[in-house]
Amino acid sequence: MSKTSYLSNRINNLSESATLKMTQLGRELAAKGVNVISLSVGEPDFNTPDNVKEAAKIALDENFTRYSPVSGYPELRKAIVDKLKRENGLDYEPSQIVVSTGAKQSLSNIILTLINPGDEVIIPTPYWVSYSEMVTLAEGKSVFINTDLSTNFKITPEQLEAAITPRTKLFMFSSPCNPTGSVYSKEELEGLAKVFEKYPDIFILSDEIYEHINFVDQHESIAQFASIKDQVIIINGFSKAYAMTGWRLGYIAANKEIAAANDKLQGQTTSGTCSISQRAGIVAYQDGLESVTKMKEAFLRRRQLVYDLLNDIPGIKTNLPEGAFYFFPEISSFFGKKDQNGNTITNSSDLALYLLNVGHIATVGGDSFGNDNYIRLSYAASDENLKEALRRMKEALAKLS
Ligand code: PMP
Ligand code: GLU
Repeated sequence: MSKTSYLSNRINNLSESATLKMTQLGRELAAKGVNVISLSVGEPDFNTPDNVKEAAKIALDENFTRYSPVSGYPELRKAIVDKLKRENGLDYEPSQIVVSTGAKQSLSNIILTLINPGDEVIIPTPYWVSYSEMVTLAEGKSVFINTDLSTNFKITPEQLEAAITPRTKLFMFSSPCNPTGSVYSKEELEGLAKVFEKYPDIFILSDEIYEHINFVDQHESIAQFASIKDQVIIINGFSKAYAMTGWRLGYIAANKEIAAANDKLQGQTTSGTCSISQRAGIVAYQDGLESVTKMKEAFLRRRQLVYDLLNDIPGIKTNLPEGAFYFFPEISSFFGKKDQNGNTITNSSDLALYLLNVGHIATVGGDSFGNDNYIRLSYAASDENLKEALRRMKEALAKLS
């Protein structure tokens, strides 16, 4: 029996998460005593705000330690409804909210809730690594709309319409985008919404987890267009806005039927998420945006720092991302070059591994995001680490011949 033959096809066909894999490789190298700078995983380098931590301590003392309702405590769902109204101008009822163990689980839940084998899911590239793998898990088919630096990685309504077939069930995207940082304006979203108006059986998975890390404008949600609101499933969470990646807290806002189906799925798989995280989430939303605003200021400064340093590296092309905390520079000019052991760099993963092993900086190859000509750098790191990382990157790339 081959080593993996007893595993399901489902799992054998699944790729490992490249973001988590590169982060783990970086950790392993660091454990051997190497000074590795991680620009691989996308997580704020800030601590969770004190008021939120305090709420978790109180939750423990008050014995919020038992199973919660599958879709989340009513107070949390109400706090999310209030937030959607206050910050996004959107009307939802608590029955339309399902809280989960993170935006990642919510995305996966929705795909499992909507996709039958063979259904098509339109995904603009570059996309966040897990999107297409989640579709594969559900036996759906990803249909990609390719974009690149020349259009600031955004699609047009014409491209969207051309990708639609009778099998299209879902469209999924993030704005601000991981990995490109691109942000769709209200007008651009309206253009896409007009296409979806014509296809009421197509749903839109709108991943808005980076909504507050937007340097160009206020956040715009595609759910604001009343004619398609019921087709939209908003995905959001606390990981990025409140530096709560480890707490595992996310949610959907959707029409009631989808929310109820999501509750049913979660009830058979994970149940309600951590009670303590939920109590902390209530306070995060009730107390507002002070900590997010501070983080955003730091990200804005670092964005400029990294932009200038990247532009100083021969062979690299980049845009100035409008949001999130990633750069997605083009690096294909290094393909075909050789490292110091005579190995040829043939793709973005080779380059990411080279940068890790020689430059001791962890990045992620663009191939896992659907475009091999790029690599992703997270700038959720200290200014000193960013300066040193970009210095190492320049030096390591110059050694390729
Ligand atoms: N969507 C995007 C675009 C992300 O970058 C991430 C990574 N944090 C997630 C969803 C998942 O976030 P969470 O920590 O809430 O699962
Ligand atoms: N979303 C982050 C990233 O893109 C966290 C890692 C992950 O969940 O994949 O790096």
